[in-house]
Amino acid sequence: MLGLQKQISLRALNSFGFDSVAERYTEITQKAQIPALIDYCQEHALPCLLLGGGSNLVLSAHVPGVVARIRLQGIEVISRSQQTVRVRVAAGEPWHETVSWLLDQGFYGLENLALIPGTVGASPVQNIGAYGVELKDRVTAVNVYDTLQRQFTQLSPSECQFSYRDSLFKSVEPGRYIITSVEFELFLTPDHLVLNYQALQETCTTLAGSLAITPRHLFDAVCQLRRSKLPDPATLGNAGSFFKNPHVNEVKFQALKQTFSSLVAYPEGAGYKLAAGWLIESCGWKGKQFGQVGVYARQSLVLVNYGGGDRSQIEALALQIQDAVYSIFGVWLEPEPRYYP
Ligand SMILES: Cc1cc2nc3c(=O)[nH]c(=O)nc-3n(C[C@H](O)[C@H](O)[C@H](O)COP(=O)(O)OP(=O)(O)OC[C@H]3O[C@@H](n4cnc5c(N)ncnc54)[C@H](O)[C@@H]3O)c2cc1C
Repeated sequence: MLGLQKQISLRALNSFGFDSVAERYTEITQKAQIPALIDYCQEHALPCLLLGGGSNLVLSAHVPGVVARIRLQGIEVISRSQQTVRVRVAAGEPWHETVSWLLDQGFYGLENLALIPGTVGASPVQNIGAYGVELKDRVTAVNVYDTLQRQFTQLSPSECQFSYRDSLFKSVEPGRYIITSVEFELFLTPDHLVLNYQALQETCTTLAGSLAITPRHLFDAVCQLRRSKLPDPATLGNAGSFFKNPHVNEVKFQALKQTFSSLVAYPEGAGYKLAAGWLIESCGWKGKQFGQVGVYARQSLVLVNYGGGDRSQIEALALQIQDAVYSIFGVWLEPEPRYYP
């Protein structure tokens, strides 16, 4: 039922394109396989890596235990009111194609998150976000298999403990839950556009011309902006933003602002979120290459694999950047992707 295969290359299954081999590999296409997977891993005392699109992972050359790629499929409408619609999307559906399909149906609200690689099932793990919208803004429930209680169950958004690029699944109880589907509440009217970012507003205005901006313009603008800034993993290995934007309190922000007048930061809660890309660029790292890896020339927040790079090289580069930023700004950058194992 699990159809385990041995010594399977994960090179095409991680967006860094690292040469990585799974000791055992299986694909989960039905929910019924999940309890069997957990039983197998516990019986043989094996670690299990859940794999979606591999776009937020830094894999070692050898991945021990079992790699289970989640390929559950299906999108269904659960309920509909005059203004909104609730949909359930299976974990293995590709994220961007789902956003595009929902838009085609006239179900609006996820356009700002267009073109983020990966699967729907991984989207709650780090509460994906872009251009002023986070997954948590549209999620009504996350359906999971709880490996501790050994049962399928449903978690509410508050139980998921979503925060900036984080959740219950990523840092509170990593590995406990296998996400099987995600439920969203979306708008049926096209008047809930989030256009907080100046570049996004401008691109939408250009695309719309003399017409009112629609969700389709927003979707197209997000795709256009992302394509101009981020490398396509199909041609240049990367995991998107490698570091989170660090949060500092008011006192720290004011001290930094006095020394570095061009500091880029946004008010957030009781403090400020600093633009990690600006911090890295200010340390002179933009576009630098170290062996087969480096810092992307058009966006310092993105670390890239030029081909033949591996986890240890990315890890060493990330550490050098963290040290440099810390020594100048006194701020420690936290990586966004997960190193495994
Ligand atoms: C070019 C590029 C741009 C990006 N832009 C953004 C962005 O704008 N915003 C953003 O937030 N992220 C961004 N990312 C990061 C990444 O795409 C997201 O985090 C995405 O949600 C990861 O999905 P995935 O399926 O590839 O997950 P994977 O990398 O396969 O897995 C990520 C984590 O989730 C776990 N996981 C996977 N599936 C499940 C499941 N079904 N149940 C439980 N756990 C699971 C894995 O074990 C792992 O810990 C970008 C990445 C790239 C390469």
